[in-house]
Amino acid sequence: GRTTSALLYLDGVHVSFDGFHAINNLSLTLEPGEMRAIIGPNGAGKTTMMDIITGKTKPDEGTVLFDGMTDLTRLDETQIAELGIGRKFQKPTVFESQTIEDNLLLALNVDHSVKGTLFWRGNRNESERIDRVLETIRLTDARNRLAGSLSHGQKQWLEIGMLLAQDPKLLLVDEPVAGMTDVETHQTAELLKKINKEKTVMVVEHDMTFVRQLGVKVTCLHEGTVLAEGTIDQVSSNERVIEVYLGR
Ligand code: ADP
Repeated sequence: GRTTSALLYLDGVHVSFDGFHAINNLSLTLEPGEMRAIIGPNGAGKTTMMDIITGKTKPDEGTVLFDGMTDLTRLDETQIAELGIGRKFQKPTVFESQTIEDNLLLALNVDHSVKGTLFWRGNRNESERIDRVLETIRLTDARNRLAGSLSHGQKQWLEIGMLLAQDPKLLLVDEPVAGMTDVETHQTAELLKKINKEKTVMVVEHDMTFVRQLGVKVTCLHEGTVLAEGTIDQVSSNERVIEVYLGR
């Protein structure tokens, strides 16, 4: 099969729903250690792209490789999660009646092969990992509080922490700053920059202030393909990007 030095490699990917091309010749490469911001108007195909990477949606055509040579199109969602691809959805789904620490413990012990359930894998020396995650998401002092008592922003960070507890190679983050205050948005940019020192990250986000704070390469999707790629300044001054955002 094919090999690549990229951590994630999409080439010539197509997906259609009842004849509608949601993804139309999409090619995108993510290098190991990179953080990439994905922007694009509603319906651009951002969610469908994430669904393809995580195995929720299978492409009709094209190549999707992970970690050099693993063909993701042949694997199911469980197998892809086990390879080390973690996805954070827009809405936080923390266990509100559990403490922050227990939320992280539960996440650490997720067995992806037991579909839809959390399976306790038992005793491991996991406290060090939990401590590190708590420090990263800045919730060390809150570890014994119930997750339900956290602010909206802190719940989002806890959920990112729950993914980190699983030690993924690639972290997919969907609209992390939706509903956040300016201060929380800024703190989320700092958090993702910190995480990116160890992990490859792909962030889908509409909030341009936030994308600017990330300071990473930006890919703008439109009609299921890449419209523009570059720095936020390059992409936001691109005439075709301006056209699709202004609605022509
Ligand atoms: P984005 O996340 O960028 O807003 P989506 O990936 O959700 O875009 O959607 C891309 C296009 O595909 C949209 O036009 C959407 O209506 C369509 N689409 C997405 N999922 C489905 C589906 N399961 N069935 C039919 N159409 C879909």
